[in-house]
Amino acid sequence: MTHDATTAPRWTREELQAAFAQGYEIGRAATARGKVADYIPELAKADPGAFGLYMLKPDGETLSFGDAETRFSIQSICKVIILAAALKLRGFNETFSHVMMEPSGDAFNSILKLDTRSNLPFNPMINAGAIETVSLLLPDLGFEDMLACARELCLDPSVTLNEAVYNSEAQTGYRNRAIAYLLKSKGVMSADPEQTVDLYFRLCSLSVSARSLAGLGLVIANDGIDPFTGRILIDPEHVRTIQSIMFTCGMYDYSGKFSVNVGVPSKSGVGGGIVCAAKGPMGIGLYGPALDSFGNSCGAVKAMVHISQALRLHVFEY
Ligand code: GLU
Repeated sequence: MTHDATTAPRWTREELQAAFAQGYEIGRAATARGKVADYIPELAKADPGAFGLYMLKPDGETLSFGDAETRFSIQSICKVIILAAALKLRGFNETFSHVMMEPSGDAFNSILKLDTRSNLPFNPMINAGAIETVSLLLPDLGFEDMLACARELCLDPSVTLNEAVYNSEAQTGYRNRAIAYLLKSKGVMSADPEQTVDLYFRLCSLSVSARSLAGLGLVIANDGIDPFTGRILIDPEHVRTIQSIMFTCGMYDYSGKFSVNVGVPSKSGVGGGIVCAAKGPMGIGLYGPALDSFGNSCGAVKAMVHISQALRLHVFEY
């Protein structure tokens, strides 16, 4: 392995295999310490012991461990796809006239500072920010367009809507509706709040696997280019913005510590997924529905700490 500051790190197949195999074992053992999300019955059905890991490189090299093909709901990781779509449709200036790019220090679904300190949501990775960003997609883009966008960015034509999760989200999402109506009352949101939350609930309910998340991570890590077709899926300038916001805000209230300990732009969701856009470039997708107190997959966080250290993936490590 070389650590030249001017070139991307390169690993042998054996080095990659060893780092990911050990990361997988460490992560799988850590699942016992977590609890699956239970705010909707559909998520509570997940197997807390499930754990999967998938790595994808632009040359097509892959590594797959455990439950890497198991489907689960993308949940908050859709916020990355929503941001990419909004930046493409509306551009940087218009998007960030509706949402800020600051870590909030509050829970992902908090309404507090939005009401008392700022009209604009703190960032697109918390619910308020993602809901406002979804509103920017309407009326030009609907669910079918966003499904196509998700399939493209995840390099996975099999991404579908999990109807049961969507129905649960829609039946219980009073807090998200409250956020949308608050944004509307402040004049920040122009779209219809009901249509906005409906699209948000559907996007949270997309059914993905660790493998799909590795595809998404690879596209982001590869400057927005699908390495297998050469198509530019996300403008490189937007990729820099998305990665910065993932780095600072992607891991709930653990984002600071994750950035220090792992140092890879990542986003997690309460379905147990984590997408990582790593140096190399490589995409890493993880799935472990047993969550820690921050809402991040216990096993996936532990696995990434190990993998990042073993392969020197921290963005500030050369
Ligand atoms: N559908 C969830 C919500 O909006 C997403 C939660 C998450 O993954 O952070 O509450």
